[in-house]
Amino acid sequence: MSEDNKPDLDKLLKHLNEKWGNRACPMCNSNSWTVNDTVYELRQFQGGNIVIGGGPIYPIIPVNCNNCGNTVLVNALVSQAIEKPKVEPKKTKKDE
Ligand SMILES: [Zn+2]
Repeated sequence: MSEDNKPDLDKLLKHLNEKWGNRACPMCNSNSWTVNDTVYELRQFQGGNIVIGGGPIYPIIPVNCNNCGNTVLVNALVSQAIEKPKVEPKKTKKDE
């Protein structure tokens, strides 16, 4: 993964501070979190097969509770951790 695919952590943390604030974990009530610095993706389940172009992909950043492992998936676009063009598929000659 190149540096271009790294999320903007300043924007992500700003978003989390604004929206999440200092709320404790809903599962264990602990308040110790780890914010991932990597963007992952959620795609539709297709019977265990990976289908390219098989629906929308959600770019997400996991935030883990350090006590119980509860993981909150924050949308990387909504939180402005990444910009939209960075997740658009690269155009190939076939698409033009
Ligand atoms: Zn927890």
